[in-house]
Amino acid sequence: MKPPPFDYVAPRTLDEALRALTGDAKVLAGGQSLIPLLNMRLAAPARLVDINRLAALDTVETTAEGVRIGALARHARVARDPGAAAAQPLIRQALGHVAHPAVRNRGTVVGSLAHADPAAELPAVLAVLGGTVEAASAGGRRTIPAAGLFTGPLETCLRPDEMAVSAFFPALPRRTGTAFAETARRHGDYALAGVAAVVTLDEDLRVTSARAGYLSVAATPVVLDLTEAAAPAARTGGWAAAGARARELLDPDGDVHATAAYRRHLAGVLTERALRAAADDALRREER
Ligand SMILES: Cc1cc2nc3c(=O)[nH]c(=O)nc-3n(C[C@H](O)[C@H](O)[C@H](O)COP(=O)(O)OP(=O)(O)OC[C@H]3O[C@@H](n4cnc5c(N)ncnc54)[C@H](O)[C@@H]3O)c2cc1C
Repeated sequence: MKPPPFDYVAPRTLDEALRALTGDAKVLAGGQSLIPLLNMRLAAPARLVDINRLAALDTVETTAEGVRIGALARHARVARDPGAAAAQPLIRQALGHVAHPAVRNRGTVVGSLAHADPAAELPAVLAVLGGTVEAASAGGRRTIPAAGLFTGPLETCLRPDEMAVSAFFPALPRRTGTAFAETARRHGDYALAGVAAVVTLDEDLRVTSARAGYLSVAATPVVLDLTEAAAPAARTGGWAAAGARARELLDPDGDVHATAAYRRHLAGVLTERALRAAADDALRREER
């Protein structure tokens, strides 16, 4: 199908882009989600504001605090960035599960957050890390914590006149490891369920924090603090207990792809697997 008619503007500065975001306008970034939605006539904005000429937003900046990714940085570029991988490996771990190379060459990290697909990997990563998104409008800027950003399936608290200009993923504390696990019917498909895990150990290598961020189990990313369930077994971790606790706490829906019971089961198995891998990662970091 062809999209419904729309006005198209391709600004060369951020100010011009923000001024164009009035009325029924939508930002066009990588187009990997928006163009299919237009072609299927599931979206019909009056104007597209194409940000692809805003080279100043094509950035990946790493500091001791974390990784800041600009609105034009594509998945593939971010996944290749060695500084980002060192400071916050969970981004690269998750990006390995996002679609296929052709999509990753165009799709943007910030676009994925703004699109807020409950089956997408990056919203769960931002949520479990407690990251933020910087939003700009003609009226000013604000920083939105991940906990308040995602409001429903394909819905965020971004206003129509706002653009997400960057996303910030905090760096890992000491003795902290990460891992990502998901199950999809074919590699590159959206996951039936997925988990982004972050585990912190103390000096005696006991678990002091075990957190899991989930995709495809609810309308928005879900974050569970599983420290209590995981902690008793010290160095080896109570990973099976944490998986069981996740199964108790999660309440996924069923759909044509998986029943609710199967999805809950998967989430439990993936929780156990991802937390164990994250703890192994933390141990490797400690030994380096
Ligand atoms: C075949 C296929 C498979 C895919 N599989 C996966 C997958 O497994 N996992 C996954 O996570 N994703 C998947 N995707 C989606 C892909 O990751 C997209 O790139 C991503 O969801 C959106 O990024 P984009 O830059 O293409 O955004 P666009 O398509 O340009 O925009 C998507 C939405 O976000 C809004 N938006 C974009 N950027 C901004 C901004 N800076 N500020 C405000 N609003 C903005 C747009 O207005 C639009 O509403 C798949 C896509 C395809 C085509």
